[in-house]
Order: sequence, then C-alpha cells, then structure tokens
Amino acid sequence: MQQQWSAVDNYMISELIPHDEVLQKVLENNQRAGLPAHDVAANQGQLLALFVRMSQARRILEIGTLGAYSSIWMARALPADGKLITLEADPAHAAVARQNIHLAGLDQRIELIEGPALLSLERFDNIPPFDLIFIDADKPNNPGYLEWALHYSRPGTLIIGDNVVRDGEVINGQSDDARVHGVRRFIEMIGDNPRLTATALQTVGVKGWDGFTLALVNG
Ligand code: SAM
Repeated sequence: MQQQWSAVDNYMISELIPHDEVLQKVLENNQRAGLPAHDVAANQGQLLALFVRMSQARRILEIGTLGAYSSIWMARALPADGKLITLEADPAHAAVARQNIHLAGLDQRIELIEGPALLSLERFDNIPPFDLIFIDADKPNNPGYLEWALHYSRPGTLIIGDNVVRDGEVINGQSDDARVHGVRRFIEMIGDNPRLTATALQTVGVKGWDGFTLALVNG
C-alpha cells in the first residue's frame, strides 16, 4: 500500500503544488545535515499554509521546528507584518533551521527559540495570543503543549496537532509507547474541553499512515 499512497501523493503534489527551489533546497540541507526526515510532506505544508490564510492568522506558534520546513510554509502565508515563533530543543536542528530561515528570506518573520519547548512556553511573558498553533514535537509532552496552547489562545485560535494516528496505534490503550499515551491523553483532553470544537483526520501518503487533530477555540 505504501507504494500506492506515495504515488498518489506525488501525483497530487506534481499537479497542484508549484515546484519551489527554496523548499527543495531546505529539504536537501536537512538531509545533508543528517536531520530525521520528519518534516511534513509538501501537500501537508500547503495545507498548513491554507489554514494560515483561511484563518487570516497574523501570529503563529509552532512547537517542533526540525529544519524549519513547515515553519517556512506557514510563515510565507502570513501577511508581511505577521510573526511565527517556533520552538526547537535540539541545537543541531536549530542551527540548520536558522540557515534555512535565512535562505528563505524570513529572518524578520520567524523567531526561533532554542530549548525545551515546555520551558520556553513557561517563559513567554505578557505576549498577545496566537491565531494558529501547530503542535509537532515530542508526543509524550503533547498534553502539556495543549495546556500552554490554550493559555496562549483567544476565541478563534486554531490548534493543530500532528502525528496523532501513528500507524493506527492510537487506539491501543495498552501500548507501551509513551508517544501513543501522549497522543491519547491529548485527544481526550481536547474532547473533554468545552472551549474546543475539534475533529481528527487520518491521512495516508508519503509519510505513511498518520493523521492530525484540528481544534478551534470557541467564542
Ligand atoms: N514541524 C517540523 C516540520 O514539519 O518541518 C517537524 C518537527 S519534528 C516532527 C519534531 C521536532 O521537535 C524535532 O526537531 C525535535 O528535535 C523537536 N523536539 C523534540 N522534543 C522537543 C522538546 N521537548 N522541545 C522542543 N522541541 C522538541
């Protein structure tokens, strides 16, 4: 099945998403630096960019930068005076991300904060709420990330959580994988929170079988 999923993704990407030299170079830089290929796929990057535009976001928080591939997709969809703050714990990933952000000409629009995300989130001081929050870091910490996301939200904020299906393991309550438990708790917390209207979608494609949650903070 994986071969077919990838072929369909590649077809959709080639038909719908214009080739982009900078994004291509970003992926090459990540690969050359030995970063794990955990960036979103191009069609997912475009989906994030569409969410940014549809929600008319001006301020974005991303938790989990890697080489800034998804950051660049989202930041480009912001208005010129928009801002994206992205959090990354691994100094090697952060170093590559900084180079890629510079390559994309987005130094003014993207702020990368290096360090464990929970610590960075705790240290934000008196900042305006975010319009869109993309949670894509270490899954065991997803419950904590959701709490902070709600803290830095306003009615209308869109909170997106990536990699919540995990090859179907999400339904295995007996799993010994802390990432599965983090994602399950995250989903339960979203479902139990009356401030949120949410859904989740499974996806297949070049990134295998996974999915994402989409939660809107109610007015
Ligand atoms: N959003 C990226 C993209 O699509 O291009 C992919 C992010 S990758 C799935 C997850 C990233 O989260 C990795 O770079 C990893 O180093 C980072 N990470 C893991 N634990 C973290 C933590 N506690 N705080 C901040 N970043 C963390």
